[in-house]
Amino acid sequence: MGFVELQLTWLLSLLGEKWKKGPPLGLRNLGNSCYLNSILQCLTYTPPLANFCLRSKHSSSDASASKNPRDCPFCILEAWITCSLTLNLTLDSSSKILSCIKIFTEHFRFDRQEDAHEFLRYVIDACHNTCLCLKKLRRKGNEGVGGAGESMNGNTVVKEIFGVALQSQVKCLGCGGESNKVDEIMDISLDILNSGSLKEAMHKFFQPEVLDGNNKYKCDK
Ligand SMILES: [Zn+2]
Ligand SMILES: [Zn+2]
Repeated sequence: MGFVELQLTWLLSLLGEKWKKGPPLGLRNLGNSCYLNSILQCLTYTPPLANFCLRSKHSSSDASASKNPRDCPFCILEAWITCSLTLNLTLDSSSKILSCIKIFTEHFRFDRQEDAHEFLRYVIDACHNTCLCLKKLRRKGNEGVGGAGESMNGNTVVKEIFGVALQSQVKCLGCGGESNKVDEIMDISLDILNSGSLKEAMHKFFQPEVLDGNNKYKCDK
């Protein structure tokens, strides 16, 4: 238990006919919803997440899903992705998600321009936390019947898909002393405006830089 089996490439048998032949589903802009539309498109076309949702893997493990699917961020996302990839439509509107936006974040409003990256982080966090809660509940349920349950290691399907460990190192040019730090993250910010491709942006992200001026670093040694 606790092991998440992920399918990294598209499972064509799960997709609607329209999807196989035509272009992907477009989304109407509802005025200020481009941040929402772009993130929904990114998530919908992330194959391991889409496959997971198309097989109803989340809702089938969520006991409250049949009662209140509109109260759970992952149920909402699963329903959205499934509709987008199976319905025979060419255009849809993200208003269904907009009406539930409070579930993802209490800071966002319908009528305002919001930040796409920030929204992505809220969605990913909300789904990750939902999985952690479900895990805790299952664990409690298993304790009584003597089952081993699953380990409480903080791993979830969301983390399996998006999580990475980012190591950063500061090296003193004077004495060569190194200080390493590892952060568990689920997204990185790339400078795409000044890059010709995603690969180039990634390359820039991992370039060493010299810390000087206000960025100067004080070596312990
Ligand atoms: Zn749910
Ligand atoms: Zn030093």
